[in-house]
Amino acid sequence: MGAYYDEIEIEDMVWDAEKRVYHYPCPCGDRFEITRSQLADCEDIATCPSCSLVIRVIYDPLDYEDVSEEEESTSEDEDDVESNDEHFDDAMEKLSLTDEAD
Ligand SMILES: [Zn+2]
Repeated sequence: MGAYYDEIEIEDMVWDAEKRVYHYPCPCGDRFEITRSQLADCEDIATCPSCSLVIRVIYDPLDYEDVSEEEESTSEDEDDVESNDEHFDDAMEKLSLTDEAD
């Protein structure tokens, strides 16, 4: 416990959009890394792949709890999610024909 090299706020880490990790420079020349899904799992230890140092990341887990999958934020569909694409195309056509007040 408490054997961290440092405690770093998530705001001070750099987001790598390609590797999809937050990183922070390690004194060994490599860098500490932590993924968003680790954050979503309430994991707060960023590790360096080249040495045994770790840092503790200071962040609010609530900001990350729903990002573990992809960033799908539009979940207004109730049950027919699968036919949604088709339905959308149909709806586009119908839209010009009638005004379907269901
Ligand atoms: Zn290191």
